[in-house]
Amino acid sequence: MAVPFRKTSKTRRDKRRTHFKLSVPGMVKCDNCGELKLAHRVCKVCGSYKGREIVKQ
Ligand SMILES: [Zn+2]
Repeated sequence: MAVPFRKTSKTRRDKRRTHFKLSVPGMVKCDNCGELKLAHRVCKVCGSYKGREIVKQ
């Protein structure tokens, strides 16, 4: 198995990790009303999910 030739310094390790940050929001446009909503959740503006499934209005 290949083994690293040198120890990775804290700076180098931390620089590498600048790329893996939290990719939180997950906001998408609602199919029904075009409003921004959380992905995989019922739209809170129009109450729709996947085009239909109206919750209430
Ligand atoms: Zn909507």
